[in-house]
Amino acid sequence: MQLKQRKIHKNKRNHFIIILIFLVILFYFVIEVGMHTYYKWNGKDASLALSVVGDAPNKDSRISVKDKDEILRVKSKKVVYLTFDDGPTKWTGAFLDILQEHKVPATFFMQGSNLEKAVFQNDVKRAAEEGHYIGAHSMTHEYDELYKRRQFVPEMLATIDLIYDITGTKSTLVRAPYGSLPGLRNDAILSQIMEAKLRVWDWTIDSRDWDVQTSPEEVLEYIMEDTKNDVEILLLHEKKRTLEILPQIIAYFKEQGYLFGVYSDAKHFPCNFMEDERL
Ligand SMILES: [Zn+2]
Repeated sequence: MQLKQRKIHKNKRNHFIIILIFLVILFYFVIEVGMHTYYKWNGKDASLALSVVGDAPNKDSRISVKDKDEILRVKSKKVVYLTFDDGPTKWTGAFLDILQEHKVPATFFMQGSNLEKAVFQNDVKRAAEEGHYIGAHSMTHEYDELYKRRQFVPEMLATIDLIYDITGTKSTLVRAPYGSLPGLRNDAILSQIMEAKLRVWDWTIDSRDWDVQTSPEEVLEYIMEDTKNDVEILLLHEKKRTLEILPQIIAYFKEQGYLFGVYSDAKHFPCNFMEDERL
């Protein structure tokens, strides 16, 4: 009887050990398969994201370099605003062609004396139709006239009227010729600006493309040296050297993970050397 009981006890212990081993194996499998499934799903999610942002859905699930850049750009909050001063010019159409080819919007600050020239007006209209913003850059571009004789606001309003006549859109954003400093450090002009509800944008990067001594390659170098912020407003001009280097400027900002912004009256944010939040 005692022997039989011991045998049963031994059998029970063996059963217990077998069940324990079984449980350990089961646990191992659950963890292993679970992890595999997790990674698989993550992989699936990533390829889904790729097909959404890429130009074409990926038939094989490999990630191409182009898609990686695209994901980087969509995820990043870095934005560059390309701004072109002093137009319209004979180059405006060619600038629009490049911007269209690269699907990049821009903000133009146009000068009244050029807007009055009928030969350029179709390009101005086209710029507005293609989603670019046309802001004002004064009628004369003359320092003494604008700042010493305080014609800044009257000239900007006249330029805005011209833009409206050509494009049918009423702008509020202006760029001060030679920048807002020192010309706009003048209370009389500032109160006129407030009254007219104008906004004034300077820039965060000066490409120095206005200098005749700067080569197209140097324009790109200056830009690369000065690119530091998540939001950059790049000063460019409608010059031949700028036109030549523009595709590389666009490529550079894409590589750096920037999206291209266009000014919007509804989403205004201040950018002026005076750090005046009202502008
Ligand atoms: Zn200018």
